[in-house]
Amino acid sequence: MVSDEWRAVIGRNVQKTRAVVLRTLDYGESDRIVTFFTTDLGKLKGIAKGARRSKRRFANALELFSLSNVLFSRGGRGGLSLIEGADVVSHHPGIREDLEKTLIATYLAELVDGFSAEGKKNAELFRLLEDFLVFLDREALQPGIERFFEMRLLKLTGYDLHIRSCLTCRKQLDEISEPAFIPADGGIRCRTCLKNATTALSVAPGTLKTLIAGSQTDLQVISRLVVSDRMAKESRAILGAIIEHLLGKALKSLKVLDDMRKTVL
Ligand SMILES: [Zn+2]
Repeated sequence: MVSDEWRAVIGRNVQKTRAVVLRTLDYGESDRIVTFFTTDLGKLKGIAKGARRSKRRFANALELFSLSNVLFSRGGRGGLSLIEGADVVSHHPGIREDLEKTLIATYLAELVDGFSAEGKKNAELFRLLEDFLVFLDREALQPGIERFFEMRLLKLTGYDLHIRSCLTCRKQLDEISEPAFIPADGGIRCRTCLKNATTALSVAPGTLKTLIAGSQTDLQVISRLVVSDRMAKESRAILGAIIEHLLGKALKSLKVLDDMRKTVL
């Protein structure tokens, strides 16, 4: 016989999924509203009752960019799921003890938040975020790492950049001496085809080649890619422009990261 208590739990239809915390917001006296990116359901927003009162119940599992196994039931008030429990798989201590890594991880989480939808599964995007967090946690900081993440994220969300050839005449990158990137078109044109493009950003062929390499190189060997100051500046400009164009806004955490680098480095 099923007890009333059990019937209530079954009735709530509790599910379990692996998830990364993208955003948190303290709510009321002791609750926390958490946005996750999950393997099974894409983005998921839930409320964890009493999360701030009982530290032991959710120990580190609801912190920004933590990887956790989450138990939840859907259909709460305001479209929020109810977070029934959460066990941390990795708290990523190697990221949290380093300011620059922390700001990069925060930015990756904000990017995934911006490019994902509630209930829309994207297992490859989940794996990408998980892999890059593990990399940041364990390895030395690789210059340009957030650019390589942006390139891969754009591809997995249907916005792969057209930077291997001219958008108009299809001339290959190797044959273009002065490519220009057009954010509104998500790709490059040669000087001949550029004509009256309203907004175009000059970019060296070497920068584009490094971005292409960084978008497909295995993370284990990505430290072999050398990113010069010029490449860093140019790729920040073109990827920042396309992401701002697609999202319709600049991301706060990217500005914080830029400001920190200007002050500290
Ligand atoms: Zn052309």
